[in-house]
Amino acid sequence: MPYINTAPSLLDAVIESISHHERNLGRRYYSEHGTDRVTAGQFTAEGGATVEVTALVSFAKKVRYGQDDERTVRVGASAKCHGWGCVEPSSEESFGEPVPLDAVVYDTAAAVEPHVQAARVWAQKHAETCRAQPYTGH
Ligand SMILES: [Zn+2]
Repeated sequence: MPYINTAPSLLDAVIESISHHERNLGRRYYSEHGTDRVTAGQFTAEGGATVEVTALVSFAKKVRYGQDDERTVRVGASAKCHGWGCVEPSSEESFGEPVPLDAVVYDTAAAVEPHVQAARVWAQKHAETCRAQPYTGH
């Protein structure tokens, strides 16, 4: 029987991204701003190119004088077609509202689902019609 890889849980990956960020706060050279990208699906387009769905985990810090810094995270998703010369190579990035970084991590991560679902719908639809070929480098 062939072995079939099971995709890792998206929710676990997003939770890990947020936990990793929290663990590394305050380390030297560690950026408190930035966006983590977690692959959430891949589709093969009509022309053979790959359409990739990505969950986005975006971190920010606001310095507030006289108070603790305000650290926030927001989750979202986008889809991107890697077809060479594709006429519509990416969906819009969609994000939820920023929430405090120290909010319940499961709830923060679970908010990614509707964004990823919308990006997957875009990817599926795009894959059905896109005839751009994968770029092979030659
Ligand atoms: Zn395309």
